[in-house]
Amino acid sequence: MPAKHRVAVIGGGPAGLMAAEELASAGFAVTVYDRMASVGRKFLLAGRGGLNLTHSEPLEAFVTRYRPAPPRLVAAIRAFPPEQLRAWCEALGQPTFVGSSGRVFPKAMKASPLLRAWLRRLRSVGVAFALRHRFAGWDDAGSLVFVRPDGTTVTDKPDATVLALGGASWPRLGSDGGWTEMLGRAGVAVVPLQPANCGFRADWSAEFGARRGGAPLKRIAVTFGARTVRGEAVITQDGLEGGAIYALSGPLRDAIASVGDATVTMDLRPDLGEVELAGRLAGRRKKETLSTALRKHAKLPPPAIDLLRESAARAGVRVADLPPAQLARLIKAAPLRLLAASSIGRAISTAGGVSFDAIDDRFMLRQRPGVFVAGEMLDWEAPTGGYLLQASFATGIAAARGAIDFIRGRASVS
Ligand SMILES: Cc1cc2nc3c(=O)[nH]c(=O)nc-3n(C[C@H](O)[C@H](O)[C@H](O)COP(=O)(O)OP(=O)(O)OC[C@H]3O[C@@H](n4cnc5c(N)ncnc54)[C@H](O)[C@@H]3O)c2cc1C
Repeated sequence: MPAKHRVAVIGGGPAGLMAAEELASAGFAVTVYDRMASVGRKFLLAGRGGLNLTHSEPLEAFVTRYRPAPPRLVAAIRAFPPEQLRAWCEALGQPTFVGSSGRVFPKAMKASPLLRAWLRRLRSVGVAFALRHRFAGWDDAGSLVFVRPDGTTVTDKPDATVLALGGASWPRLGSDGGWTEMLGRAGVAVVPLQPANCGFRADWSAEFGARRGGAPLKRIAVTFGARTVRGEAVITQDGLEGGAIYALSGPLRDAIASVGDATVTMDLRPDLGEVELAGRLAGRRKKETLSTALRKHAKLPPPAIDLLRESAARAGVRVADLPPAQLARLIKAAPLRLLAASSIGRAISTAGGVSFDAIDDRFMLRQRPGVFVAGEMLDWEAPTGGYLLQASFATGIAAARGAIDFIRGRASVS
């Protein structure tokens, strides 16, 4: 028997583990290196929110959610589409279901049973794990260099390498974006990492943040430009976060970068028309305070009332001075000025990364033959809804197949 070809997968998140499975199943000797003491930490965290694995919408619509959506990313998703991901999950003993929003979750609504079964399968096909190995780059002989926690170094020179080092959000889980400098030095084009699906700092008073920080705003709609997103948001000490804000975070971040700020409008009663709302507010009794009237007639909870006051105050207006029609207009479209994206460390995901121009059709770095890239470290972004994990899994498979082709001596098509 000829000796097995060896592949190093660096990064044990969804992308790296998927690459490892594909490679080991094809008969390669695979070692997964990770800097942390265990793999899949961000995957486990995603499981705390129910583990939204993918989305059930038609593939043609699905692939439009990515921006940028380079043909290589789209091809990878077409080659490993949502229904295959669901079948894979099912084969690991974790059936999935489609939620009311079209999002797909494992029935267990968490990641731990899936990860446990997956790691068992990976070990059964011979995948080895080298944990607490931080990848630090290549030495002059072209070997991979890893640093152990005690400062000692370990080198490896496999037949191919898959890098799946993740983005830079939640760095304590392992992905800190430290690779950007390393790859930049190696001449690889890397688009600067930025927060995606993130909260924003808002132009409001410290008193308001202190008073209402942590309060949820349920059943609202947020509009920026031509896009309106219904959902929920959360008031933070210094701004806003939550699903409805995350969904707009790409355009908001870009607008702030180009003009310095971005104003969204928040509809605090999206199910009620402005005229109906004005009529209800006009029924306010003389003895009723404004807060009582807003609570009783407009059915606004106290944090939403305070938000309305804050929004009006920023425009130099007192809510108490507004006639019902204007008050209704404000409830339907309270302007909120956002000043900056929250820190990348607190974001759900990361935009930017290794440019698709830096890789060929096999997901191999043009600057480093034999080195493949997968997952969130590539330059794409997408909203929450399962698109992040789907792209991570699919590019993990694409990079592994690229490595298999490379080792088997097949020519690249680009
Ligand atoms: C709170 C939260 C909830 C989320 N929920 C969802 C969800 O429900 N649905 C969804 O689609 N997405 C979700 N995501 C996003 C999703 O988890 C990520 O997009 C996905 O994990 C990216 O996979 P990856 O393999 O590319 O990177 P990661 O999962 O980040 O894995 C990268 C791995 O590389 C290792 N590594 C990094 N640098 C080095 C180094 N120098 N040397 C060695 N190892 C290194 C890290 O330790 C890590 O194990 C969520 C994210 C967060 C933060």
